[in-house]
Amino acid sequence: MELYSGPINRLIDELAALPGIGEKSASRLAFHLINMPKGKVERLANTIVEAKEKVCYCRECYTLTDKELCPVCSSDKRDHSMIMVVENSRDLAAYEKTGKYPGVYHVLHGAISPMLGIGPGDIRLKELLERLQDDSVKEVIIATNSSLEGETTAMYISKLIKPTGVKVTRIASGVPVGGDLECIDEVTLLRALEGRTEL
Ligand code: ZN
Repeated sequence: MELYSGPINRLIDELAALPGIGEKSASRLAFHLINMPKGKVERLANTIVEAKEKVCYCRECYTLTDKELCPVCSSDKRDHSMIMVVENSRDLAAYEKTGKYPGVYHVLHGAISPMLGIGPGDIRLKELLERLQDDSVKEVIIATNSSLEGETTAMYISKLIKPTGVKVTRIASGVPVGGDLECIDEVTLLRALEGRTEL
């Protein structure tokens, strides 16, 4: 027996399929949405569709942006010889929030995970190597998470880059093991950056 009517069940199913939302939260959100004024619901739905349509990858660093080049890559105030490699755009945002990182970024959109079947070809590694063809790059700072996947990815990248002669560093382990960068406070992030060591 279905507890709710078809449309409500479908809405709950769609919401429950989102990351971090369980069955309970999904039904709470679904009923909240149903009780919202129609105009508000329409605005939310349109915002989602618009974001999906307008957001693309930065041509340089592959973060999500609505322009060809993201604000960091297009800024001449940033040090383009220093590239920080992060797993996703949220990690980039975490470092950007500190306002103290002078360089630019490279977003991998994932990490190598043999368990999940994610290999080097599934993340934006080839694109990183292409950027290093440019002699102006002096340092690559690997700021992947300190999870098993993040460490595996860091080791892989450092082996890949070493032969090119570009300096490769890894952020310090002020970042707790298994910790997601986006959940860490700014002071810890900056300390991890300052304490980075050469690989
Ligand atoms: Zn960019």
